[in-house]
Amino acid sequence: MAIKQKGNRTKQPTGKISLGKKIGGFSQQIVVALVIFMALTWGYSFFEQKKATPTIPLSEFASLVLQKQITSISIEGDNVTAIKIDKTTVKSMKESNSSVLETLRSYGVSTSTLASTTVTVRSERGLSFWGSIIPIILPILFLAFMIWWLARGIKGANMQALSFGQSRAKIIYPDDTKERVTFKDVAGAKEAKEELAEIVEFLRNPKKFIDIGAQIPKGVLLMGAPGTGKTLLARAVAGEAGVPFFHLSGSEFEEMFVGVGASRVRDLFDMAKKSSPAIIFIDEIDAVGRARSTNIGGQGEGREQTLNQILVEMDGFEQSINLIVMAATNRPDVLDPALLRPGRFDRRVTLDLPDRSEREAILQVHVKVKPLAEDVNLKVIAERTPGFSGADLYSLMNEGAILAAREERKSVAQFDLIRSIEKVMLGPERKSHVLTPHEKKITAYHEAGHALVASCLPDADPVHKISIIARGHAGGYTLKLPLDERRLMSRATFLDDIAMSLGGYVAEKEIFGDITTGPSNDLQVATGMARKMVTKYGMSTLGPVALSDEIERNFFAQKEYSEMYGEKIDDEVKRIMEEALGRARKIIIDRRDVLVVIAEELMRVENIEREEFETILIAHGITPKRKEEVV
Ligand code: ADP
Ligand code: ZN
Ligand code: MG
Repeated sequence: MAIKQKGNRTKQPTGKISLGKKIGGFSQQIVVALVIFMALTWGYSFFEQKKATPTIPLSEFASLVLQKQITSISIEGDNVTAIKIDKTTVKSMKESNSSVLETLRSYGVSTSTLASTTVTVRSERGLSFWGSIIPIILPILFLAFMIWWLARGIKGANMQALSFGQSRAKIIYPDDTKERVTFKDVAGAKEAKEELAEIVEFLRNPKKFIDIGAQIPKGVLLMGAPGTGKTLLARAVAGEAGVPFFHLSGSEFEEMFVGVGASRVRDLFDMAKKSSPAIIFIDEIDAVGRARSTNIGGQGEGREQTLNQILVEMDGFEQSINLIVMAATNRPDVLDPALLRPGRFDRRVTLDLPDRSEREAILQVHVKVKPLAEDVNLKVIAERTPGFSGADLYSLMNEGAILAAREERKSVAQFDLIRSIEKVMLGPERKSHVLTPHEKKITAYHEAGHALVASCLPDADPVHKISIIARGHAGGYTLKLPLDERRLMSRATFLDDIAMSLGGYVAEKEIFGDITTGPSNDLQVATGMARKMVTKYGMSTLGPVALSDEIERNFFAQKEYSEMYGEKIDDEVKRIMEEALGRARKIIIDRRDVLVVIAEELMRVENIEREEFETILIAHGITPKRKEEVV
């Protein structure tokens, strides 16, 4: 597999609570309730026991009375409880069918002696007020509590759907310092921040704009690849403006029942209007905002209603209501044009993948909370991560920290970060993936083929690592690093890239006389590139025509070219591929000696880093391409 460094689209967990987790929390709640109940019962009986006081014989009791030690006596059935002068309590038992006073008299206690003590007689079951009421109240209270608790849990999980419509927006209030983010937390994205600074100003000080008759925008659409920080930036706008942030994801509109979406939209807008100035943020709006004509078989009925409701609400509120609707998408091309009309999402902000210096700045943001070793050089990491998005860089830092922690180190070293680049890009190493010696040999020659072709073509990027350790889906990989941050690709680069992609295929064929399933991905990539050259960039003999491949995104859309063109495109793609194949084959055959050396070395060490690879090249008279130092 040949890999041009390009971040994969790892997504971070968004912190939303999934249903499974809710259910987990639910049984947890029952356990907590039970524990509380047991503690209460135990506490109660303990309390009761505490009340147990020494029981003394009646004769002794009588003598205490005679000594005037007793201030009051209370009689409950056969139990006699008395309080002594020193405020302690004693208990005694009388015979069932005689009165205490009579018994005391028979012990010689005179009526006059008794006159100084208070005697209370309580009913047979003479428990104290609380003593009698708690055993009844407690279970009732407990039951009520349980019911409330369970109801609360269920509501959080799926019963929510029953409370129709009720918006499920997550709200971040400006005083929530933990959740709040500002522009400082968003590195790079300078233009986007400038655009949005205006929105912040509108929210902070609408009067200034209204007075002068300026039109305050209602909707802002953030567009950009996944992980470029759209969600983050939207939150930062709210944070900067100090307004509540109502956040709902497009897919959350219709979770349970079709038709809930529209009323959720209504609730969301009502809620936000009440707390204006505010921001409503609809994340991944393409989930509801797809062009309505592309509905297949009425499937998107609910979605359509939701979309209509969004349009109605956006048209509905007055300028004087200080409310900004923000939305994010990575597929602006599929959005319904109605969403983009003036007065709706007419402000559009594009977020690009970060360039080298922006990547460094993003790493810097995420590094703040992590202890770094002295050898860490973020500039080098930024150089080695072209195509990484902000989210990829975030997980790179995180992987680095995990590696350091696993090896019981207190700080993150450069080495950890370097290793994490490949992990984020290709997935974890699959050490358990054991190759047979023959498979290992094939993989080694395959990767050596990519590397050799790349090194011999003038416009291919230099190789910076070759590996035959399986990672993610790749059995082995050859990493090449663009010489510079390219925004424009030339025709020559395309052609060399295609040839390089075919290097593995050719090497297998030349060395083993047979091919494996290994290069299937390479072929896909190469063909894709060739096709784009023809249909999109006008880089073929068909000339400067854009024959957009609508099929890619919309099954029902019409092809924008005739059958005649279709055939020509296929011919042209085939021609480009054949030509590239020929060039790759020539290199592999001419420099078979170098190919063998690289492959043998790979079988021995499994990973070849750039320096070592260049040494091999130089030893065989191939000048390695130098990457100009980035300043
Ligand atoms: P998107 O919504 O575009 O898919 P997110 O806003 O969810 O991307 O970004 C995911 C994470 O990536 C953020 O939480 C943040 O940690 C990190 N990130 C992305 N872009 C940036 C950036 N410009 N500066 C700092 N962190 C970023
Ligand atoms: Zn390959
Ligand atoms: Mg997002």
